[in-house]
Amino acid sequence: MQHCGKVALALLMLGARPALGETLTNTAYRLEVTNGPSGLTLALRDQRMGMAVADGLIYRAQRTVAEGALLSRELKSCSVAVTGDELTIRGKLAGLDLEQRFTLPAGKPCLEEQITLVNGTSEAIRLEEFEAGFRRRVASMTGRVLAGLTEDRIVALPFRKRPTDAEGELHDYTLNQLLTQPGGAQRVNMEESWQADRGISGYVPSRHRSAEGWAWTHRDSSLCVFKFSQDLLEFSALSTVVEPDGVSLRFGGACMVDGLPSRLLAIPPGRSVVLGLNRYQTVSGDYVEGLYAMREFLDERGCRFPADYNPPAQWNELYDSPFWDVDTPGKPDGNIDDTRAVLYTKALMETEAAKARDYSCESLYLDPGWDSNFGTLIWGEKWLGPRREFVDRMKKEYGLGLSLHCPLASWMSHPVMRTNNPGVRAYPETSFRKDAEGKILTNSICCGSRQYLDLALRRMLESCADGVGFLMFDGDWYQGGCWNRDHGHPVPYREEDQVEAVSGLAQGVHAKYPRVLIEMHDPIGSGSPAKFTPVYYKYGLPGGFDENWGFELMWRPMHDLRAGAAKALYYYNLGCNVPAYLHVDLRDDNDHALVLWWYASTCRHLGIGGTHPNPFVAELHRREMKRYREWERFFKRGEFFGISEEIHLHVLPKENAFVANLFNLSSETRVIRGEFDLRRAKGLDLNRYYIGASRWGGFKKEGKFTVSLEMPPWSAEVGAFHAIEETRESSKP
Ligand SMILES: [Zn+2]
Repeated sequence: MQHCGKVALALLMLGARPALGETLTNTAYRLEVTNGPSGLTLALRDQRMGMAVADGLIYRAQRTVAEGALLSRELKSCSVAVTGDELTIRGKLAGLDLEQRFTLPAGKPCLEEQITLVNGTSEAIRLEEFEAGFRRRVASMTGRVLAGLTEDRIVALPFRKRPTDAEGELHDYTLNQLLTQPGGAQRVNMEESWQADRGISGYVPSRHRSAEGWAWTHRDSSLCVFKFSQDLLEFSALSTVVEPDGVSLRFGGACMVDGLPSRLLAIPPGRSVVLGLNRYQTVSGDYVEGLYAMREFLDERGCRFPADYNPPAQWNELYDSPFWDVDTPGKPDGNIDDTRAVLYTKALMETEAAKARDYSCESLYLDPGWDSNFGTLIWGEKWLGPRREFVDRMKKEYGLGLSLHCPLASWMSHPVMRTNNPGVRAYPETSFRKDAEGKILTNSICCGSRQYLDLALRRMLESCADGVGFLMFDGDWYQGGCWNRDHGHPVPYREEDQVEAVSGLAQGVHAKYPRVLIEMHDPIGSGSPAKFTPVYYKYGLPGGFDENWGFELMWRPMHDLRAGAAKALYYYNLGCNVPAYLHVDLRDDNDHALVLWWYASTCRHLGIGGTHPNPFVAELHRREMKRYREWERFFKRGEFFGISEEIHLHVLPKENAFVANLFNLSSETRVIRGEFDLRRAKGLDLNRYYIGASRWGGFKKEGKFTVSLEMPPWSAEVGAFHAIEETRESSKP
C-alpha cells in the first residue's frame, strides 16, 4: 500500500519507498508527477510559453458525517502510472476512490484531463464541497502578484461580457483584480421580483468563478482550459486558494460550486461519477484566439449547427398585439385568458400575418394567447378556428409557416406569476409536485413528471401533425425539487433532471417530426437573461433541441445594445456554434436599423416584430429585411468572425464570399476600422479577385481584408464581398 503526505514521509525515513517520478510530453506540454515522501508533486510546463503553468495539485472534499462535515485535504494512498500517452493518478479522498487521468496525445497539441470518483464503500456518500485541479502560485505571502505575471490577463469564455453584466463590466481580469475582487456563484429564485437586467437571478460571493472556459494570457500566448460534460451541470471553475506562503489559483480539474454538479450530493454505494472533460490548449494570441479554439473544440463534439440549418425568419405578433398588454385597475369577472376571444382573434392574427409577409418573414410566430388557456398547449379553436385550416391559410394567403410559443409547466403553474391559472386543470392532479415531507403542492405541476410530459408531448405532436414548424420551450425553469415518487424521475428531482426532462421533450417531438425546429430556453433560468447551463449543454445529442435562447434581449434591444448587455451575443458567437434564436422589438430601433442588423448579425435565427411608430423607419425595416433575406445564408450558416465588437464577418468559404456588418456603438461620429486575416477563414480561395462594398472594405496582400468607414453614432452598415468568376481563361489572348 502506498501513502502520501506525512505518513509516506515517516515510511520513507524508515527506508520504505523512494520517490517515483513519471513524465509525459507532447509538442504542447510537459507533465511531470512525482509520488514522493512529501506527497504528490507536479509540474506542468507549457512548451510555447516556455514556463511552468502549474506547480502542484489541489484536492479538497467535504463530506457530510453524523457530527457535521469532515474535511479531506489530501489524496491518500496515491499511485501514479503512465500507459502510452496517459498518466493516471489514483488515490483516496473523503472515502472515495479518485482517478485523475491526463492524456497528452502525440499528434495533437493539447492536454486532456478527466476525473472519476468511485464510491467503493457500502453507504452513500454526500459531498458538500469538492475541488481538485492544477495549482499555480501567483502571489506572495502578502498577496502581491509575482514578478513576471503582473501583465497577465484571465478572461472568461465565452462570456467575457455576460447579458446580465452592468454597463462596462467585463470578465477580463488582471491577476491583481482576481485576487482583490470576489468571485461569484449564480443563483435563481422565481419567487423574487423580476428585474429587467437580470430577471430573477443574481450572484452571491464566492472564491470560485465559473465559465465554460478560461483564457490565461501571458505575453503573446494564452493557456486555455475548456470544460465539457453532457451529463453533469459543471463549469470550468477558477478558484483562489490562500496558503501560508502565498496565493494560488486552482484551475482545470473539477469543482463543486453552490451544490452543482448535484450528483456529488449523493453518490450511492458501488457507483461512480465521471466528471467533465477538460481540454487544455495554448494558442498564439489573446482571448479571441481562445474563443475560436473553444468553438472548434465544441464543433468536434457535435455542438455545431447542421450543414443544412435554415431556420425561417419569424414575425412575432406580440409587440403589436393588444392581448399582451391587457390589464385591469379592478377585479373583473373571469380570468385574463378569457380576453383572448376578443384580443387574440383570427382576424387580428391575419393582420399580423400580412405584416410578416410585408417584412419578408417566412413564419408567423404566435406568442402567449394561442392555446385554450395559458400552458394547456391545446389550440384555441374557439377564437382561431381549426388549427389545420389556420396553418393552410397562413401558407396559401401569406406564404408563411406557423410557429408556436410553448409555456411549460413551471410558468403555467407558478404560484405568483400565474395565480389560479385555469390551464393547470388541463393536466391530472397526479402531476402535482410533492415537497421533501411528501406533502402535495397543489396546482404546482412538476415539469419532470411523466404525467405532465406525456400529455405535453402528445399535444405538441398534434400541433406538428397539423403543420406547425417551430416550437419554443419557455417557462421551463427549475422549480426547486420534487419528491413525488410516482413521477418517474429521480427523487429528489434535481437541476440535471430538469434539463434531462425538458431536452427529452424535444427528443420526443423530433422522434416523430425531425424537421420541426425547437428552441429551448435555459431549463434552469428559463426566460431570465442569465444563462445557468453551459452554452452547449445537451445540444447535439440525437434528436435534441435545435437552438438556444438569445438571453431574453427581446424587450429593450436598443437599450441592451447601449448598455452593453447585447454584446454577450457577440462573444457567444465567437465561442460557440450552437445557434441562438431571438425575436426583437423593432419599435425600439433607430433610423439606422441598428437593432435589426445587430441581432441579425448575432442570432443565427432571427425573429422580429413591432411596427415602428415612425413610418420612415418602418419602411426602412421592410427594405432592410429584403437585404437580410438576400444574404440570410451568411447569417444562418456562415462562419462568424469578429474583428472587434463593431465589425463582424459571416464567411461561406465554399462560395468564396462573405458578408461584413459594421456598427458604431457609441454616441460620437467615428471611423470604424479594422483588419482581418482571411487565412483564418479556412477554405476561402484568396488567389482570386473579389468585389463588394469597396466604399469601405478592401483587400491587401498577405490575405488581409480591411475596413474603414466614418459612421454616425449608433448606426449600422452591411455589405457582401465575393470572388468573381475565374478570369485566367478569358484573359488569354
Ligand atoms: Zn415530480
